[in-house]
Amino acid sequence: RTVYVNGDYVPENEATISVFDRGFLFADAVYEVTSVLDGKLIDFPGHMARLSRSLGELDMAAPVSDDELLDIHRRLLSENDLVEGMIYLQVTRGAADRDFLFPEADTRPNLVLFTQEKSLIDSPLAERGQKVRSVDDLRWRRSDIKTTQLLYASWAKSRAHAGGADDVWLVRDGHVTEGSSNNAYIVTADGTIVTRHLSPEILSGITRQAVLQCARELQIKVEERPFTLDEVRGAREAFSTSASSFVSPVIEMDGMAIGDGEPGPVARRLREIYIEKSRAAAI
Ligand code: PLP
Repeated sequence: RTVYVNGDYVPENEATISVFDRGFLFADAVYEVTSVLDGKLIDFPGHMARLSRSLGELDMAAPVSDDELLDIHRRLLSENDLVEGMIYLQVTRGAADRDFLFPEADTRPNLVLFTQEKSLIDSPLAERGQKVRSVDDLRWRRSDIKTTQLLYASWAKSRAHAGGADDVWLVRDGHVTEGSSNNAYIVTADGTIVTRHLSPEILSGITRQAVLQCARELQIKVEERPFTLDEVRGAREAFSTSASSFVSPVIEMDGMAIGDGEPGPVARRLREIYIEKSRAAAI
């Protein structure tokens, strides 16, 4: 596999980053994951807009222009003949002597991208439906910034997995915030989609935005507000969204079936429509 590091396209085993890189030492880095279908980028402008915002919130400079980012993504796709999967992009504040204080502004950011092949359309998990567990949301309260500080989510998901579940839904003050790496939704008895409103406590999912738009076009009522675990247990169906999983049904919470314990029709329909629309708009 060819990867991109600071202007160079190199074989993955020849790519190097300093041990003093602040991404490595402090998780002082932001990232994006853009999915790829038919060799094209899904929702690319949305991901790059969110990247700019993450950088801005952390007073980090953009390493290259948006046009250059598109060129880099496309060149990496073609170097690796990627047809379906993801492109991962990370910007770190760069290498500096280890110090909690941010280094001087002239530190050069590190920019890294790599591709990952993955079958996205054919997804056994989306067919079967995910089993999730609830866990306290103990992340810092700026989850709106897409940083590489992912240890809590990774730890919680791994523990849930060891206990037979597929993922975790994070809970703060009795209400679901989001999944470990996805946004969370329920469909109520009257057919309304409920998902938490945007705030510093969740990531503004690029897929979330597109899927809510699909729901509105299908004239499904959408409420953006916090919801409780009781509401999840009493829901007709539930699902999650992310760039790498699109729309993925959730069939169980803490060992209890949601609805009839099968992937629900709203999640299935939204998955189909989202894939169709985003595929047509891919660049
Ligand atoms: N929430 C969290 C915590 C995430 O890590 C992600 C994606 O990785 C999402 C939500 C979904 O965002 P997107 O749809 O842009 O992939």
